[in-house]
This record gives sequence, structure tokens and C-alpha cells, in this order.
Amino acid sequence: SAPAVAPARTPAAACVPAAAAPAEPLPVLGRDVTVPLVTGGEVTYAALDYAASAPALQRVWDDVAAYAPYYGSVHRGAGHLSQLSTELFEQSRATVAEFLDCRPDDQVVFTRSTTDSLNLLARALPAGTRVYVFETEHHASLLPWREAEVTYLDAPRTPAEAVTTLERALAAREPHGDALVCVTGASNVTGELWPVQELAAAAHAHGARIVLDAAQLAPHHPVSVTALDVDWVAFSGHKLYAPFGSGVLAGRADWLQRAEPYLAGGGASRTVARRADGGVDVDWHTTAARHEAGSPNVIGGYAIASACKALTEAGFDSLVAREQQLIATVRAGLAEVPQVRVLSLFGDRAPRVGVLSFVVDGWNSSHFAAALSAEYGIGVRDGLFCAHPLVRTLLGSAPAEPGECGAPDAAPGEPSPTSSGGTPTLNA
Ligand code: PLP
Repeated sequence: SAPAVAPARTPAAACVPAAAAPAEPLPVLGRDVTVPLVTGGEVTYAALDYAASAPALQRVWDDVAAYAPYYGSVHRGAGHLSQLSTELFEQSRATVAEFLDCRPDDQVVFTRSTTDSLNLLARALPAGTRVYVFETEHHASLLPWREAEVTYLDAPRTPAEAVTTLERALAAREPHGDALVCVTGASNVTGELWPVQELAAAAHAHGARIVLDAAQLAPHHPVSVTALDVDWVAFSGHKLYAPFGSGVLAGRADWLQRAEPYLAGGGASRTVARRADGGVDVDWHTTAARHEAGSPNVIGGYAIASACKALTEAGFDSLVAREQQLIATVRAGLAEVPQVRVLSLFGDRAPRVGVLSFVVDGWNSSHFAAALSAEYGIGVRDGLFCAHPLVRTLLGSAPAEPGECGAPDAAPGEPSPTSSGGTPTLNA
């Protein structure tokens, strides 16, 4: 059957819809997990680190469990289960396109994550493309472009300054050749919303394209590719209440169709033939399959689509209203603690999603986070949040602590990088 039609959504500009009633929380896995406390006894675990990875919705898990016994190879067989899986995989793509309010000729490529999506786009840049990126970006959107010509833009202090900074930089470029702007929709550190629509207008006015890193925006806010007028959008399943391992790059087909496949292999190629000179000729697909070589992550794509449907059906207006209520409660509580400072680039009144980071005077962040876990059963993320330049700007200093993204550099038993330094940031 055709994917359900999503209800009309508001463009991603305003933050709190005026009249929406807060939603009931959507059931997630692990909601009732109890953890032991060092002080004795146990409590129900409070996961406040959804910005890093959110648990899967129970609904997503149920959908996957219902389908899992029947899955088969995708685009690789005439058998019933093969056909079923192919249909569900392609329906999942259509559901994601609907969720993102894509243009009719946009492509939806299933990837492993936002990081993977942006690296794929970086590989698809036409030769000579200049990339513009704010230094405040998450490393996933800051780093993939290093093999292109990159202009790193200074941290703006207001959304309006972000637009003028970009306009000034684009106006200074030679008016030929391709250009791409990469910007986040919502910061994983401050939760602040970036003026995506205005940045897209500025990019297009100067002949550049724009890709939106929606890793944090998509779980908290409707994203309309059409209304925002962005050329591409990237997000991750594991932040959108689907399990790990799947992500999306959606948007304009032309650069993707002309680029070398991200991975070379079966599924990406239409025909392969030996040449008379002994080499091999390949005719690559021009659909999303071009960048999905190998057997696709069918369960991953299906899970993302299930999460998209669950959020759409719950209604973003009421989800946002509930989230704003919760974050206001957290902010009010933190404001009563004199040693706590909530981090902000654009100021306290800037619109934001339900993500925040704070420093606690006199505390090392990893020690504080460990204490929250051990003494209260509260999980938060600590460190630099894969956005080192941004955190340095917010702190006004260079923290002593090295990076916290990925596996620690230290061997087991040695002090880990995140427990040895002095970076006082926590993410909730
Ligand atoms: N962009 C933002 C704003 C993020 O918060 C994250 C993850 O924290 C990413 C990109 C990268 O996402 P992933 O680790 O799923 O590739």
C-alpha cells in the first residue's frame, strides 16, 4: 500500500506553536530501566543525553519486530520476501521524502548517519566547488569538506549576524564556479535554532547551494526542504528515535547523479562489461542506488521511516509544545543554582530546541557527569560534544581537555582523555 500522507506541517521557522497542547510522551525503549546508586538502592534511569543518541520508540521497535521475520534481499530477487522487502524499502524512501517535504525530483539516499551523508555530499562536489561553513558547526558538518576549497566563517553572535557574515563572504567570491554552504538547523551544544531559511535565501542569491545538517533539528522540529528551500538535508536515525546504523541524505539529484559512486560495487552499477583492452566499463545507476552499493540496510531504512511516521502522527506542534515546557523547567531549575551557567551563542532569548549545555563552576565536567550518574541515575553527556571550536568560543577560552568524540585514546585502565582535563560542559 502507498505510504500514509503526512498531515500538513508548519515550515521550520517559528519555535513554539501558539495554541498546541503538549503531547503525551511517546513510549521509548528502556524507559523503566532501574540503575544502582553508589549511595545504595536504585532509581529509574533518567536519560538526558538524547542529543547524543535517543532510544528507539517502542512503536519503531514493534514495527521492525513485525517485519523482521519476513525480510529478504532488496532489488535482488523475484522471490516473495525479496519483492516484499524491496517494496518496503522503497516505500520507506517515499515516507522519508514525505517527512522532509521534499521536491518531487529530489533523491533520498539511505546512508549510515549524518556524518556519512555529509561525507557522501563532500565526495559529490563538482570540481572547484568552494564550501562555506561556520566554525561553530558539529565536526560532522565542519570536517568533510577539507579536500575542497573551504572558507571557515567566524562564529556569529546573533542569527542576523550569521546571515550578514555569510552574505559578505559569498559576495567576496569570484562569481563563477560552484559553491556550497553547510549549516546546522539546531546546535547540538546550545540547542539554538539557526536562520536556515534566510541563509538559504542568501546562498541562492549568490549562486551557491546549501545543505542543512538536521541531525538535531529533525527530531525536534518539522523540516520542510521545500519551505526552507535548502538543496540537501542530512539526518541520523539514532537521533530520531530509530536504532543506530541508518541515516539520510535527501535533495537535489544532479550533483549526486554526476558524481562517482560513494562506494563502488553491486547495486550501484547498471551494467559492467570487460573492454577489449582488458579493462572494465561500468554504467552506474543515476538513482539513489548509485550511492548505496552493497546490500542495503533495509531494516535501518524501514526503522527510520517508522520513526518519521510516528513523529508525524504524534504531531510536531504538540511535541514541540511539550519539549518547550520541559526545557523551560530545566532552565528555571538551573537558574536557581548560582554555580551553573547555561551556554548560549545567540543569547538567552534565542529560539531553541530541547537541548542545552551548562558549566558548573569548580567542577570538571566528566567528574560532575559521573556523579550525576552514580548518585542520581541521571545520564548526561560531558566534554566538547564534537564541536570543539564552538565550545571554545562559548567558554571564551581553550579548554585543556582533548576531544571526546569516538572511542577514547587511552588504553583500558589508563586515565581517559575526558577525565583528565578541565572542560566544564554538560549536555542535557
Ligand atoms: N550534526 C549534529 C548537529 C549532531 O548533533 C550530530 C551528532 O551529534 C551529527 C551531526 C553527527 O551525527 P552522527 O553521529 O549520527 O553521524
